[in-house]
Amino acid sequence: PSPRSSVIIIGAGVSGLSAAKVLAENGIGDLLILEASDRIGGRIRKEKFGDVSVELGAGWIAGVGGKESNPVWEIAAKLGLRTCFSDYSNARYNIYDRSGKIFPSGIAADSYKKAVDSAIQKLKGLESNCVEDATNRTDFTLTPKTPIELAIDFILHDFEMAEVEPISTYVDFGEREFLVADERGYEYLLYKMAEEFLFTLEGKILDNRLKLNKVVRELQHSRNGVTVRTEDGCVYEADYVILSASIGVLQSDLISFRPPLPRWKTEAIEKCDVMVYTKIFLKFPYKFWPCGPGKEFFIYAHERRGYYTFWQHMENAYPGSNILVVTLTNDESKRVESQSDEETLKEAMVVLRDMFGSDIPDATDILVPRWWNNRFQRCSYSNYPMISNNQVINDIKAPVGRIFFTGEHTSERFNGYVHGGHLAGIDTSKAVLEEMRKDERQNDKQNQNF
Ligand code: FAD
Repeated sequence: PSPRSSVIIIGAGVSGLSAAKVLAENGIGDLLILEASDRIGGRIRKEKFGDVSVELGAGWIAGVGGKESNPVWEIAAKLGLRTCFSDYSNARYNIYDRSGKIFPSGIAADSYKKAVDSAIQKLKGLESNCVEDATNRTDFTLTPKTPIELAIDFILHDFEMAEVEPISTYVDFGEREFLVADERGYEYLLYKMAEEFLFTLEGKILDNRLKLNKVVRELQHSRNGVTVRTEDGCVYEADYVILSASIGVLQSDLISFRPPLPRWKTEAIEKCDVMVYTKIFLKFPYKFWPCGPGKEFFIYAHERRGYYTFWQHMENAYPGSNILVVTLTNDESKRVESQSDEETLKEAMVVLRDMFGSDIPDATDILVPRWWNNRFQRCSYSNYPMISNNQVINDIKAPVGRIFFTGEHTSERFNGYVHGGHLAGIDTSKAVLEEMRKDERQNDKQNQNF
């Protein structure tokens, strides 16, 4: 017979581990975590690059300094994780054109205002619940066209809309963001979390309730329980399953359900957009970029929207590391994922030579994460379209029989963030505990009747 657990958790990212911790704290000892990759952490992942650890996935603790305390910030503070405050406010005054000139602050400020006005206008159209109306009402003089306008539009829309509409993370937890710059990585937080309920020795998890390299391919579910099948032919049984795979994975055919998921569920899953966000790291023999106050972030204005637009130097995080990071999103991310790293390096060097002159040195190393082509991710994070309503996220989150859904994409207020994943995991495990109690009460009643 297959081993049977009370709860199987699929995925050992922040949401899966947070869920497991709450279950363990509530006396569920026979839980099992099945993780497809060879490590815990999911979209929180460090890698050695040059002499330092860089974060390929989540980098910032976003939402700090507000009226409520961000739980992830609290955990990081308790562990003494090294962080750096990120001040984006000056980025708009470091916009380079293709001839290496910085746009005067007046032009930058005007373009910024125009981009914000245009976004607000679009949003108003969407809020009136008619996309056509939004297009009709758009004042085309506000549509971004020039390289600087396209660059600002990209920053506003592909990074955050905080200046256009309130974002729960900033409203609840504050507007400050801190970059994790700790050799132990952002993932240290998760190892410490796991240590609280899994057996570890010398920093290694040695508990057979966590199984790595277990790719779940099928969930067969009934009123009595769930049977989980993995790619290597193993079968596991459980009373309940908590599924934390990303929205990108849910949209793919990696996991099949027997019986299939109901239509309301699959339709909701399809309605959520996935965001691909790629940080490309480049290492140089020496610094050739300005490093003083207000210079950490800079922008490249090109006629193609999102083309190597957003740059950051790592001197504040890791002084002397000589590392630059450029962020690409969506179509540009997918494009560089599908080409060789040498080609990407060549493109990035042309851009840098536009900004800083032809005599700068070539990068000696490049690191290009591939979140889109990773079949265990298929995205960086969820992005609910502005016209979608709460029903979509509620349907994505709602359990189907004994299968419960968790992950950042199920967090109504904080989707897309680490704290969203963390809080979602806690929330989902509480819902499962509630179901287990109901089960128990029902069993007691049946036993009394006999
Ligand atoms: P995941 O971390 O994806 O965990 C799910 C786990 O399930 C994975 O480990 C996966 O391997 C596993 N899995 C998938 N399919 C299967 C299967 N079939 N069988 C078994 N296991 C499976 N957030 C911030 O707060 N700040 C940031 O600065 C930030 N920047 C980001 C930058 C990038 C490039 C990316 C990718 C993400 C960023 N995020 C950021 C978002 C944040 O990383 C995520 O919201 C969060 O880590 C998601 O956690 P999760 O538990 O929901 O999912």
